[in-house]
Amino acid sequence: MLMNHNLMNAHQPDEDSNRKRATNAKRTRRKITVNLQGTRYEVVREVVEKLGYTVTKDDDSLAYLLWNDTYVPTDRISEMKSFQRINHFPGMGEICRKDCLARNLSRMTKAHPEEYDFSPKTWILPQEYNTLQNYSKDLKKKKKLKIFIFKPSNGAMGNGIALYLNAEKIPQSEHTVVQEYLERPFLIDGFKCDLRIYVLVSSCDPLKIFLFDDGLVRLGTEHYQEPTAQNLAVLFMHLTNYSINKHSDTYEKGETVHSGSKRSLKFLNEYMRRNGIEVATLWANISDVIIKTMICALPHVHHAYKMCRPGQAPGSDSVCFEILGFDIMLDRKLKPWLLEINRSPSFGTNEQIDYDIKSALLTDALRIVNIRASDKKKNLAAQKAAAQRRLLQPRGALSDADDRKRTLQDKRKEELKDLLVRIRRDNAKTEFEDRNCGRFRRIFPPQDRFQQEKYTKLLLSAFSNLASNVGGKANSSMSREIERQYVTKYREDEVLDMLAQYETEETVDGEWKGRRQRGPAPLTRMPCSNADQDPDVDDSESDLDDDEEAGIPQPQRPARAASSRQYSAKARIPQRIRSGVRSQRQASAAIHIPQDSSNNSLMHRSLSEDTEAINRAIKEQENELVGILLASLQDMRIKFPGKSDEEAEEILDKIMADWKFHKPRVASYWLVKLDSNKRRKVVEIVKSNIRAKVQHVYQTTDVESLKIFRIFTRVFNRLLWSHGQGLWNCFAGNSWETIFAKSTDVISEREMECCRRITELCKDCLLIVYQFANDAKNKSTTEGETSRSNISGNPGYTQPTKSSLAGPPIQASLKSHGSVMVNKRQPKTSISTQPYKIFS
Ligand code: ADP
Repeated sequence: MLMNHNLMNAHQPDEDSNRKRATNAKRTRRKITVNLQGTRYEVVREVVEKLGYTVTKDDDSLAYLLWNDTYVPTDRISEMKSFQRINHFPGMGEICRKDCLARNLSRMTKAHPEEYDFSPKTWILPQEYNTLQNYSKDLKKKKKLKIFIFKPSNGAMGNGIALYLNAEKIPQSEHTVVQEYLERPFLIDGFKCDLRIYVLVSSCDPLKIFLFDDGLVRLGTEHYQEPTAQNLAVLFMHLTNYSINKHSDTYEKGETVHSGSKRSLKFLNEYMRRNGIEVATLWANISDVIIKTMICALPHVHHAYKMCRPGQAPGSDSVCFEILGFDIMLDRKLKPWLLEINRSPSFGTNEQIDYDIKSALLTDALRIVNIRASDKKKNLAAQKAAAQRRLLQPRGALSDADDRKRTLQDKRKEELKDLLVRIRRDNAKTEFEDRNCGRFRRIFPPQDRFQQEKYTKLLLSAFSNLASNVGGKANSSMSREIERQYVTKYREDEVLDMLAQYETEETVDGEWKGRRQRGPAPLTRMPCSNADQDPDVDDSESDLDDDEEAGIPQPQRPARAASSRQYSAKARIPQRIRSGVRSQRQASAAIHIPQDSSNNSLMHRSLSEDTEAINRAIKEQENELVGILLASLQDMRIKFPGKSDEEAEEILDKIMADWKFHKPRVASYWLVKLDSNKRRKVVEIVKSNIRAKVQHVYQTTDVESLKIFRIFTRVFNRLLWSHGQGLWNCFAGNSWETIFAKSTDVISEREMECCRRITELCKDCLLIVYQFANDAKNKSTTEGETSRSNISGNPGYTQPTKSSLAGPPIQASLKSHGSVMVNKRQPKTSISTQPYKIFS
C-alpha cells in the first residue's frame, strides 16, 4: 500500500509541486497598500484600485503609498520607512508659494539674466513696495503705461486677484505679490488662455523630471481686449481660472475636444500645427522653463529631503515624488511665461476631459514611481545587513603602516564597489523608467550633452547660492554631493577600471592574488511593481534582492555600458561614425565564428564575409579619423601664459635637462601640495581641449559616446589614479598601458598612440603649471606682494577657475589673469589674438 502510494507520488510530481507552489504563493503574496485618508479625489482611488493596490485603513501609517492633497509636515516624511512612498517633497513650497517663487527666481535672474527671463517682473509686498512705486514712477517719466496684477502669495483659484492701472493705488498689504501684467497673450478663438502642464518629479537626488504629454488649456469666457480702465474689472476676460469662469454664463462644457472653455494640450498642439506653428520648438521652450524652475527649487528640496532622511544611502529610491501643476501662459510671440506652480493640482473631474487626462496622468506617474511589494522585505534585509556591517567593522589601532595602507585601500575599494552598485542601480532604474514612462517624457537629466552642461552650470550656481546661506559643514557636504551627482559623474566602466587598478596593485605587491572579481555583478533588470501586472506571482521570488544581485554572473560586457552606448550613439552620432563604433563589436563577432563548425553553411559564411567586408571598410574610415586626430594631437602644445610656443618648449626642455633638481619639487607640488580637486583641474585643462578636438574631427557634440573618447577618459582617470600617482609614474617611465590589458575593447595601435600623446600633454601641462606657480611665487617674493588666487592655497599660483576650465565664462579669467592652456602649433595669429580658443 505504502509502495503504491509512493509510486503514485512518483507519477504525480508536477501536480504536487504545483499545489505546493500555489499555497506558497498564497501565503507569501503581499499587497501594495495605499492610505487615501488625505485625499478627497475619487480618481486617485480609482487609479490605485485599477493598478491592483489595496486601499487600507485611514490609520494605517505603514501603507506603501500615502496620498495627500495638501502639504505634508517634514516629521511625517522623516518617520517613513524606506519602502513607503508619499506624493510630496519637503521644501517644494520654495517654488509653490508665489512670494517664495518670486524670491528664488529673482536670485537666479540676478546671476543668469539671460536664462531666467521667463517670469513676469514681480515685487513681494510689503518689503518691495517702495521699489514697485519707484519703478512705476520711472515708467511714468518715460511716458510708458503698464498694468499690474495683485495676488495673495498663498492664493489659489483666482481668489483675491485684482488688476491696477496705477501702481500708486495698490495697497501695501501683507503676503501679497504684484506682477507686471502680460498684456498681449496668445489667444484661442479670441479668448485668453493659460496652460496647466503636469510634471512628475520622481527623485531629487538625483533630480529626475518627467513631462506629461497632455494637460489642460483653460480659456477665459469673455473675448479678450487689451486692458483699459473700463475692462480691468472683467475677470472673465483677464483671468483664466476654471473656478472663476465656471460662473460665467458663457462657460462652455466641451462637447468635443475642439470646443469648450477647457481644452486639452493635445488640442492645442493640433491648433498650433494647423496655424503653421512649430510645436516642437514651443515644447522645447516650455521644458526649458520647467527645468530651470526646478533647478531653482532643487537646493531647497534636496536640503530638506536630506534633513528628513539623514541615513538614506545616496542613490537609493526616493520615498517622495510629486506631481506638480505648472501654469504657463504664452504671449503672442509664443514665448512661455511662468505664472505659478501648484504642488496640489486639482484632481477634480467635473468634465470628461478632466477625467481622461488626470486618470492617465496618475496611472503613468505611479508606474514610474514603481512601488514594489517586495520592498518591505528588502528594507528589513538591508537594515540587518547594515547593522552586521557596522558590527564587523575593524576597530582599534593598526599595527603598522602597511596595515593602515591596506585598510585605506580596502576602504577606497569598498567605496568604489558601493559606487558601482549605485551606478548600476541608477542605470537599471533609468532603463525601467524609459520602458514604463507611458505618456511621460523624461526632460531631466536631458540627453543632449550641451543642455546637460548648461543645466549643470545653473545647478551649481543655485546650490552655491543656498550653500552660502547654510554655511559650515552642511555647505561642504552639499558641494561634495553636487559635485558627485552632476559634475564628476562616473560611468560604470570607469569605476571598473579604478577597481581593476587596485587589484593590479595588489597582485604586483604579491598580496591577495587570485581575487579577480571586478566589483559587484551588474543589475540585469529593474524589479518592477507587479501589483497591476500579475498579482499571482510571488514578488519576493520574482524581484531581485540586493544580496541576490551580487550573485548574478557578470556578462562579458556590462549590460549598462553596452545599452547606454547604443542609446546615445544611435541618437546622436552621425551615421558614418555610429557604424564605426558598432563595427568593432560586429567585427569580433564575425571573426569568432569557427570556419569548420557543423552549422557553418555557405549562406552563413557568405553573410559573415559580407559583414567582415563592411566592417573592414568602416574600420578603415574610423582608422582614418583616428589618424587625423593623432596628427592634430601631435600638433598641440601647452601654452605658457605670456610666452611663445618656442619659449614654452624651452622651459620644458630646461626642466627636463635639470630633472634631478626639479624631480623632488615637481613631486611635492603634484603629489602633496595639490589636492585631488586641483589635480583634476590640471588634467582637465588637457581633457577639455582634447574633447573639443575630438568634437571637431568626428563632427559630433556627443563625444562621450565615442569609443575613442571613452578610451581617453580611461587614460585621464588612470593619470589621476591614486592621488595623482598615475601621472607621476609616467615621469619614471612606468606605463599606464596595463589598464587596457583586461579591456574587452580592441585598442588599435593608432588609438594607443593618441593615448601616449595625451599622456605627454598632461606631463607637459603639469610641468608648465608647476613652473608658472614657481615664477609667480618668486615674483611675489621679490615684489613683496601677495599674488592672486591660487590653486592650493600656496601663494603665487594662478589657476583658471573651475568654470573657466569648462566653457566660455572662463574666457575673461584666462584673458585677464593669463593661464595655462593647450595650444596648437600653427600660425601665431589664430592663437595670440584669442589665447583662450585653444583650437578651432
Ligand atoms: P491663482 O493661484 O489664484 O490661480 P495665478 O497666478 O494662477 O493665481 O493667476 C490667475 C490667473 O490670472 C491666471 O490663470 C492668468 O489668467 C491670470 N494672470 C496671472 N498672472 C498674470 C500675469 N502676470 N499676466 C497676465 N495674466 C495673469
